[in-house]
Amino acid sequence: MSKCLLDLGEKEYRAKQILNWIYNKYTTDFSEMTSLSEALRIKLQSILSISIPTIITKTVSNDGTTKYLLSLQDRSNIEMVIIPNGKKNTLCISSQVGCARECTFCATAKLGLNRNLETHEITSQVFLAIREMGEDKLTNIVFMGMGEPLDNFENVVKAIRILQHDLCFNFSPRRITISTSGVIPQIAKLAETGLKLKLAVSLNSAIQSKREILMPISKTYPLSELKKNLLDFRKKTPYRITFEYVMIKDFNIGQEDVKALLKFLGDISCKLNVIKWNEVDDLPFETPATREIDKFISSMNVLSSAVTYRRSRGADIGAACGQLAAKNI
Ligand code: SF4
Repeated sequence: MSKCLLDLGEKEYRAKQILNWIYNKYTTDFSEMTSLSEALRIKLQSILSISIPTIITKTVSNDGTTKYLLSLQDRSNIEMVIIPNGKKNTLCISSQVGCARECTFCATAKLGLNRNLETHEITSQVFLAIREMGEDKLTNIVFMGMGEPLDNFENVVKAIRILQHDLCFNFSPRRITISTSGVIPQIAKLAETGLKLKLAVSLNSAIQSKREILMPISKTYPLSELKKNLLDFRKKTPYRITFEYVMIKDFNIGQEDVKALLKFLGDISCKLNVIKWNEVDDLPFETPATREIDKFISSMNVLSSAVTYRRSRGADIGAACGQLAAKNI
């Protein structure tokens, strides 16, 4: 922005004024930026545009979770979800159109990868959510929508810098979480950036052969290497790593699964979020019964890490974890 204004012969402080209009007043129309001269407003309008995704549908769940189907400029569709929880409102955003990682429990995987989102397409989901909810309502942002964020590394890192910048969204690092399927080289690269944020890892089994069935990425980046890499990452971040574990009936919640999981997590300073698998058409899994879920969770209580059972939110509208497929329901 500064460079563009300098090229136009304007002073650098104009950039701050424009950022203030965008990120504090949520204005996307240069003609409304009345602290700028009329001539500059007209000039900016003729050479720049600020685009935000178009809302195609907005679906509200019985539990207040709201799913948005969004259309981008090239007509690609993505989804974002707002999950209210008391005073907390979490926005789940997408980083790619589709995903290449082929996790067998996930609806997004069925789309394959169309393309990476540009930086502005990531940050504009946040912009749109704030406009929808009103200022100061959004408390947390999670990269758990469509896509593997670390496969779109450069744009996601740039987006996080904008989300955290004090002249832009000014989000605290501890309120931003990236969730990864375990792209080892990119986790190491993320640590190198010095960027502060929380990391979540979608684990789902601590048994190599089973994890390969759920998450083919595990064939390339096996559990043993993932663990080493995460222990290194943990040394460079103030925040504990969160492991996500989707519970699937008769697959990953038996005694051998408990044993492997306790062993895997035992020496990592971490949190464990367990969540039941949410039904997705045509996928060969089932949701466990409440009794099985309770048994699995109570087996985890010996862990010193915090164990949280995340109740599925928005499952009735296809907005829950693993259900995003960029389609109208
Ligand atoms: S779970 Fe995440 S990484 Fe795996 S296919 Fe779905 S969106 Fe991609």
